[in-house]
Amino acid sequence: MTRLLIMGPPGSGKGTQAELVAEYFGVPAISTGNIFRANVSEGTPLGIEAKRYMDAGDYVPDEVTNNMVRDRLSQPDAAGGFLLDGYPRTTAQVDFLDSVLSEQNASLEHAIELVVHEDEIVSRLLKRAADEGRTDDSEEVIRNRLRVYNEQTAPLTALYAERGVLVRVDGTGPIEEVAVRVEKAITADGR
Ligand code: AMP
Repeated sequence: MTRLLIMGPPGSGKGTQAELVAEYFGVPAISTGNIFRANVSEGTPLGIEAKRYMDAGDYVPDEVTNNMVRDRLSQPDAAGGFLLDGYPRTTAQVDFLDSVLSEQNASLEHAIELVVHEDEIVSRLLKRAADEGRTDDSEEVIRNRLRVYNEQTAPLTALYAERGVLVRVDGTGPIEEVAVRVEKAITADGR
């Protein structure tokens, strides 16, 4: 059973890596950002609420995010494992995920941290903003997203390190190379 999560600042490539690594291990990649974006484009009540926060580069409130993740993890395709992309991002989300997993007598095998230098991150995000016209990628919003990540999410890696499940991987270089690095790091860890 493969239960994984991937963390990394915005622009670290975690969405791309999540897809590749999830496919390699044969589990669904569950991206809270993608679920929110799908709800925004469908105009659901969840999407309408989430959009305010996303457009400002802030986190959607924990209660909203946690309930959404609980629902997603209860779907049949997640029964055989999963790779969470972009969740948990706060200590309250870590606690919630712990409780969901313990209800299922399950535990997380690895938390992957993609490590990319901040200068590289900013230039990647500005390029993506220009290419895709993402409404959450203006320069001011990018700075806020990085600040929120550094304050609320980066410290969570220490928690997973204490538990002995953190795998840190260099996120620079060609996409396929990074994916192989992640796959090897997980396999080598042998858990
Ligand atoms: P992402 O594509 O993972 O960068 O997510 C895009 C946006 O969705 C974030 O900037 C947040 O506004 C929101 N979001 C995604 N995941 C979470 C989460 N775990 N907690 C709170 N907000 C989230």
